[in-house]
Amino acid sequence: MTDECEVTGENIDTDSGILRTIAITNQKGGVGKTTTAINLSSCLAKLGHRVLMVDMDPQGNATSGVGIEKAEIAECVYDVLMDGLDPRAVIRRGPVDGMDVIPSTLDLAAAEIELAAELSRENRLRRGLETIRSDYEFIIIDCPPALGLLTINGLAAAEETIIPIQCEYYALEGLVYLFRTIKRVKLHLNPELRITGVLLTMFDSRTNLSRDVEAEVRREYPQLAIETVIPRTVRLSEAPGFGKPIILYDPSSKGAWAYTELAKEVVKSGQERTGQGAGRADWLRGDSAGAPA
Ligand code: ATP
Ligand code: MG
Repeated sequence: MTDECEVTGENIDTDSGILRTIAITNQKGGVGKTTTAINLSSCLAKLGHRVLMVDMDPQGNATSGVGIEKAEIAECVYDVLMDGLDPRAVIRRGPVDGMDVIPSTLDLAAAEIELAAELSRENRLRRGLETIRSDYEFIIIDCPPALGLLTINGLAAAEETIIPIQCEYYALEGLVYLFRTIKRVKLHLNPELRITGVLLTMFDSRTNLSRDVEAEVRREYPQLAIETVIPRTVRLSEAPGFGKPIILYDPSSKGAWAYTELAKEVVKSGQERTGQGAGRADWLRGDSAGAPA
């Protein structure tokens, strides 16, 4: 994969530069995927970008976490995947100007089973998003904690993936299966796919454990470790209960600052990759030597 072939007419929106679709993946549960999807999306929107967050998890935590009542949703991402419904029919306004949401409900749980019998089952999301891609600069996809068809659909629809890693025991356990899945999707479904980086979440600077996990990630995956680290804070865990991203729930908190930094780092990484910015961070090169996918 070369830089030249990544910048094609297909993924350039003439107004805004390049559309970037980023799947947030890790089959491990509770590592901060949804928290990252909500807060990265809202911080990107706050920075002035047009963002669509897609909830691909039947748990619907990204949906309720931005204040959308799941009980009031008639149609969701399930209908886009299974019935080819125009995504515009299900898109909701997000909590921040410039942010839209494709919600999910428990209906999506059936899609995992129903898709198994369908043709081109891995590309349903990609196809579904085609008509609206030019409306956005970023599409952020929150994936479920499994390597099944919903996550595969997320990876097939994206050009990039961010992998949140919780600063806990066994943080890197199972990562090899995720890398293998990403590699298979890249090989068979989506040659554009690359790993943007691994994101350390729930970092507690008071514990040796967090520092050990950070050191291990930076040692094992030097090209992939995202510089911004997300701290463990009560405010970040409270915010979804109020249906708000952290920049609205507590704008001056450490969590709001960290996710804003992450959004800036993600924006900058795109500029550097496409030559719009100075310098070039190593971890941007998902296919560089030593990178796992
Ligand atoms: P799942 O695999 O079930 O989808 P997930 O990977 O999406 O989980 P989250 O739902 O984002 O993980 O986070 C798991 C729990 O940890 C939630 O209760 C969330 O509020 C909390 N949490 C996430 N990030 C932080 C943080 N930085 N500080 C404190 N709590 C956090
Ligand atoms: Mg989640």
